[in-house]
Amino acid sequence: MRKTEIGLYVHVPFCLAKCVYCDFVSYPYEERSAERYLRALDAEIDLWSGKLGETAVKSIYVGGGTPTCLGGRALSRLLRALRNRFSVLPGAEVTVEINPETAAAEMLEALLHEGVNRLSVGMQTADDALLRFLGRRHTAEEAAAMVITARRAGFDNVNLDLIFGIPGQDLPCWERTLGEAVALEPEHLSAYGLEIHHETPLGAAVAGGSVVPCREEEERAMYLRVIDFLSAHGYAHYEISNFARPGKESRHNRLYWEGEPYLGLGPAAHSYLDGCRWSNAADLSVYCENLDGHRLPVTGEVALNEEDEMAEAMFMGLRLIEGISCARFAARFGRKAEKVFAGKIEDLIAQDLLQREGDRLRLTAKALPVANVVFRNFV
Ligand code: SF4
Repeated sequence: MRKTEIGLYVHVPFCLAKCVYCDFVSYPYEERSAERYLRALDAEIDLWSGKLGETAVKSIYVGGGTPTCLGGRALSRLLRALRNRFSVLPGAEVTVEINPETAAAEMLEALLHEGVNRLSVGMQTADDALLRFLGRRHTAEEAAAMVITARRAGFDNVNLDLIFGIPGQDLPCWERTLGEAVALEPEHLSAYGLEIHHETPLGAAVAGGSVVPCREEEERAMYLRVIDFLSAHGYAHYEISNFARPGKESRHNRLYWEGEPYLGLGPAAHSYLDGCRWSNAADLSVYCENLDGHRLPVTGEVALNEEDEMAEAMFMGLRLIEGISCARFAARFGRKAEKVFAGKIEDLIAQDLLQREGDRLRLTAKALPVANVVFRNFV
């Protein structure tokens, strides 16, 4: 019998300082908190390695936060602990997010040595004024230099994270970012529209009227432009916000979109295993206290029923440009998607938001910029 295969996500909840738009769980880096976190994380790895038994790990993603805040030695120890205590498959994809201001050549060499085979660089934009506006601690030139350093260290799989729809950004400015990003020849690019969360400093500035958000039509134009631009430069648009050279799609992220199991470690990390979803305590102290007492810091555990799982299979699977396979849906649930969501699928096809191609149901080009409207139909 084939062993269960999962992905592992590790959340590192520290950054040098908080960006104005950020709603991720991240604390300002401080050595003592980081040491406490690493001890707790080690205990969490231990507890889970005992529970998972034969489960094989096919991808690891160390994200945050800013994992590289921890320094090369601590990150190497963490990666070694994961390999020593979980059954990591040969050839597993191992990604670490790096930020230009906290990673150096020696650290990247150490990561490569520990089996990291994919780096994700937070470039965001090639415009230094916008980087300052966002509260990022690096320049565009430093992000570019980071990619060159990664190449020299031996990495052949690099992702660049980009953001569009930043207040003050216009289409020509976005095109310059795309041009500079492509010139670095990354294997993968992620491009997300800036989300403005009301509890962030940026959200407060927008609510107070001191910052004017990007207009919806302008943001949509930037989204459509990234699709054309990257397609013209040889990148396949394989997920709403993700683009890759052939064979370089993110295997770890694919697992989320395809409804496969994953385990999240670290504060606020989410998990989906054995039909249950939960998240870890987001508060760093609560997370550490639980693990000091040898308890998993699990909160909000929900056992998904079949209706929930079918809805998720639709709205996560439709994020992929290839869409969902109706045969795979039927094999997984013993029911046909076309029957379960009969009225909805037909309505969306009639509105030219969904299309059927052979076995697959997928979003139309018209639906891509308004994908959330489509997904709401399945929730
Ligand atoms: S670097 Fe990323 S996680 Fe850290 S504050 Fe900025 S946006 Fe948030």
